[in-house]
Amino acid sequence: MIDYAIATTGTGVVAGLGYAPALWVKPAPVLPHCSKKLVPDDAREAEAARWKAAVETVAARLTARAAVASGAAAEVLGATAALATDRGLQRTAIKLISAGSTAEAAMVAAIAQFIAKFEKLGGLMAERVADLGDIRNRAVSELLGLPEPGVPTPESPIILLAEDLAPADTATLDPALIHGIATRLGGPTSHTAIIARQLGIPCVVAAVELAEIADGTMVLIDGAAGTVTFGSEPAEAEAKVQADAKRRRAVQSWQGPGRTQDGTAVEILANVQDGAGARAAAQFPAQGVGLFRTELCFLSAQHEPAVAEQAGIYGEVLAAFPGQKVVFRTLDAGSDKPVPFVAHAREENPALGVRGIRLGHADPGLLQRQLDAIALAATAHGGTTAKVMAPMVATIDEARSFAAACRERRMSPGLMVEVPSVALLADAFLAEVDFLSIGTNDLTQYTMAADRMAPSLAALTDPWQPAVLRLIRLAASAGIRSQKPVGVCGEAAADPLLACILIGLGVSSLSMAPSAVAAVGTQLSTVVLEQCRLAATAVLGCTTALEARSTALDFLS
Ligand code: PEP
Ligand code: MG
Repeated sequence: MIDYAIATTGTGVVAGLGYAPALWVKPAPVLPHCSKKLVPDDAREAEAARWKAAVETVAARLTARAAVASGAAAEVLGATAALATDRGLQRTAIKLISAGSTAEAAMVAAIAQFIAKFEKLGGLMAERVADLGDIRNRAVSELLGLPEPGVPTPESPIILLAEDLAPADTATLDPALIHGIATRLGGPTSHTAIIARQLGIPCVVAAVELAEIADGTMVLIDGAAGTVTFGSEPAEAEAKVQADAKRRRAVQSWQGPGRTQDGTAVEILANVQDGAGARAAAQFPAQGVGLFRTELCFLSAQHEPAVAEQAGIYGEVLAAFPGQKVVFRTLDAGSDKPVPFVAHAREENPALGVRGIRLGHADPGLLQRQLDAIALAATAHGGTTAKVMAPMVATIDEARSFAAACRERRMSPGLMVEVPSVALLADAFLAEVDFLSIGTNDLTQYTMAADRMAPSLAALTDPWQPAVLRLIRLAASAGIRSQKPVGVCGEAAADPLLACILIGLGVSSLSMAPSAVAAVGTQLSTVVLEQCRLAATAVLGCTTALEARSTALDFLS
């Protein structure tokens, strides 16, 4: 008999079950400021010893963790431990303590000096700034007798609970021990979701009532349903987890190509950001690249690379997927992806400002040169017709002039459906171009008027929102009528359950983070097209995201 309570429901972002004791990421301590109260002369030596002991404890813990971690995690932990015992840091802190500072305040001030130095040096040194902050927080907590802050590295399996995870937390997450992640904040496109997806850890975000769960409580996390429950009957919970582990093993052995159980072909593609990313993606069973985010190649480029240089960069992605589909997206610079060589005026509201295709209004040459470079790369790599799509299109005029520029270069034009106007007028847009690709991240942001970067709006930036699903339906139906492909390349495609609904709505391809490819492919192989269509129809009748997800589960699980 099941006797459990749903502790909290959030947004499931990585499907899978985990059952283990909960363990919270401990918050950073409140940092002490340099106080006017000086440590008396005769106590300063002891204060310095207290500082040294705390730092040595922190370094020893990090070293011990490095010894049991592997790969990049071991390297990061080892390097952070070495940084903690840096002689320069010690000299600076001891000097401050000798002048009367407390050990805590000396740590804060010494690290602040180091952070300023590292930031000035730039490059790799600047990237260590987060590690310095981490060392400071750990040492100050140790000095104050508080639990160690940050992501714990447990000795046995846990479900990790946190407010939210930062990119710097990734190095220490070991999927062998972290059997699930639940956060109070975050959304489907938050760092937590991206990290969990990469590591294949069941994950629920935006679980607002998570705070009710105490450390040590046995919890069952369900990353598909988006629930975190406690009080489950252990044998029953374990059996569910075992069944899920079997499903995950099936995922590991999935090799593609994408098709439903009754044989309907569904292209399953990877999203990539550069040559290295494409080479890594080629290790997964993706059938090509459905979204090459070209702007991500240039996030630190101060000058626009010449056409030939750009062609070399783009050619790397074509080389990683020889003879396979590669869809280029022209520069989506601006807002959350500023590119230094693209002039951005200061904007009050950059997500609604001059980004993507709109950059061409002031500087048409930028797009022209990029299209020349893509055409050059395609010619150099087998001469296949390159597929190129424009981001942030909102009007037919934009679509028309983009399509003409592509066709002049013998390339196949497409558009991203990110602005609701394109979904609403999808037939007219499809008359101009060869394909559409629905960017559900921005489509959701603009449909729900909710900043995709704001963790507190996660419930709104959920692609299961019925209004978003209806817009997808409009775009996909237009594709069916015009017999032109309409795919999805936003994070929604990486959700195996939602992927089935998208196919049921008439979408013909799905492009996603490479690590999600096998899970989506496996899920599609367990359902028949008619089941997806019935589920999609039922989901379209729902009025809330929660209802939509649970209806889909009823039809498809
Ligand atoms: C999207 O908006 O869904 C998309 C795929 O583009 P990006 O996430 O790069 O804005
Ligand atoms: Mg987008």
